[in-house]
This record gives sequence, structure tokens and C-alpha cells, in this order.
Amino acid sequence: MPLPKAELHLHIEGTLEPELAFELAARNGVELPYTDTEALREAYRFEDLQSFLNLYYELMAVLRTERDFADLADAYLARAAAQGVRHAEIFFDPQAHLARGVGMGTVVDGLWRALGRSEEVHGVSTRLILCFLRDESAESALETLDAAKPYLDRITGVGLDSAEVGHPPAKFREVYEAAAALGLRRVAHAGEEGPPEYITEALDVLGVERVDHGLRCMEDPALVERLARERIPLTLCPLSNVRLRTVDVLAEHPLPAMLDAGLLCTVNSDDPAYFGGYAGDNFDAVRTSLGLSEERLRELARNSFVASFLEDDEERRARCLAEVDAYTF
Ligand SMILES: [Zn+2]
Repeated sequence: MPLPKAELHLHIEGTLEPELAFELAARNGVELPYTDTEALREAYRFEDLQSFLNLYYELMAVLRTERDFADLADAYLARAAAQGVRHAEIFFDPQAHLARGVGMGTVVDGLWRALGRSEEVHGVSTRLILCFLRDESAESALETLDAAKPYLDRITGVGLDSAEVGHPPAKFREVYEAAAALGLRRVAHAGEEGPPEYITEALDVLGVERVDHGLRCMEDPALVERLARERIPLTLCPLSNVRLRTVDVLAEHPLPAMLDAGLLCTVNSDDPAYFGGYAGDNFDAVRTSLGLSEERLRELARNSFVASFLEDDEERRARCLAEVDAYTF
């Protein structure tokens, strides 16, 4: 039985496996520029964040209907459950769909078909987090939040993703203020490829409660000290960091140093279909490559539930934490 864990950094569009991409393409009459799943899997060997993003957006063309989004989420939840995930806070990128003429309702209602029954079917509780694309304009983010207003009963928070460098968090001050006024929780990608200053800005200007990645905080000792003192969770994605060359090899990942510094780290899969593994695969990889002890792994699992947005279901959080404490490796 795998270690119970919560997954807090997961882009649902990044769970599209080549097999499902071809199935949806056939169902929707979409022509993919790859001969078969093998050729597509070969294309998943990109060099950096931008080449990954190009493929990621290209493949979204196969997602057209509510049923497509439901199938995508169901496939992820089944895989996550098999790897010990008990709770998943799932990002989605509405702007990438709206730009293709796929409406907010199709996306949210489709995802919700799977998420709404996930606890029952997969034993995985879920939350949905709407992400703004930071390489789009601030106005577009505001329009997106506006389009999401009829669906806020199913959306827990907002996030910020896509190409980081050149798009500092402060660009999105207004939409984050609007989201906070609507009672939405706030997270943002910061300090993945961008500098440590972006992390500080996400905290101070956007008011985020959790930092996605945050790896580059290690370049700024004062920031590390602050993140540790304020118990700001960081959602790390080790296999993603290797695939996108944020770190050269997993053995050099700063996760052990970050834990030693007292940071509230969690381990997540980011875009698992593209980056070589789901949540449990990431745990296995850091265990093997970084030689983490069983107690360190237990700490990471505990952190994932501590950092999750389960304030409206403290009973579930307590139950999951008890499961982690009782786990035998
Ligand atoms: Zn991400």
C-alpha cells in the first residue's frame, strides 16, 4: 500500500496521456500531427519550459466536450488513487480553452462530473483551482475571473501558471484582489525559472497562501528564513524540475536542504503525463535519488495535508494525517 498523500500541484491538462489524446482526437475528428502514440510519446522529450508549453497547448485541441474533460479527470483520479493520493487540489487553465472556443461551463461542468463523485468512486477528495496564464494580459485574467463567477461554488481558489520569466506576479495584483474579495484562496507559481523576488512579490502583492515550486528561494537566505517562520507551504515537483532542466539531475535536487532549513515542502507531479510520473512516482524518485529517510517521507506526506485547503473538512484532514502517522513502510 502506498504512503497516503495529498497532491497540491497538478495541472489537469498535464495529465493527458498519449493514449487518451488519440482516443479523444478520434472521437472529436481532430487531426494530430503524430502517426501514433509512440511518436507522440517521443515528442514529450522536450528541452525546456517553452518547448513543453508549446506541445501542451497544441494537444489541448483534443479537449472539446464536457465528456472529454470528465474522462481526463477520471483517468487522473484513478491513477492518483492507485499511488496513494487521498486528496487532490487540481489546477485548470480556462484561458487555453476559452481561446479555442470551449466555454467555461464546458470545462468546469465536465471536470465536475468526475470531481463531484471522486470521493465515492476513487476515495480522493478534490478541490478545483482556476489558474491564470501569466503570459496573457492582466485584462484577460480579469475577464476569465468574470467568466468563472457562475461556477464559484465549485472553485476553491486561483493560481498563476505558464511562462514565468518576464511576467512578475505584480502584473496580476488587481485580479488577485478581486479573487480575494470573492472569497477565493490564492496560490501562484513563483521561483521556478523566475528569481526569488517573484516569490516575495507573490506573497506581498498577491497575498498567496502557498507558493508553487518556489525552488529558487534557496538563493536568498532571508527569504528562506521568512518562508520557514511563516510556515508558507511550497509545492515542489521534483521530476518536473529535472525534465524542464531546472535542476540537472534529481540527485542534486535541493529538497533535502529545503527540509533541513525548516521549509514546509510538499512533493507533487505538476504535469505527470509529460514529466515522467505521478505523485507516488515522485515520492519513489526522491526516496531513491536523494536517499530520504522514511521519517522524511512521512514528513512530506504530513505536510501535504497540513498545506491543503481542507479547512472546510477538518475531519478528513485529521483522518488522513492519522493514516500517515500509522503508515508502515
Ligand atoms: Zn505547475
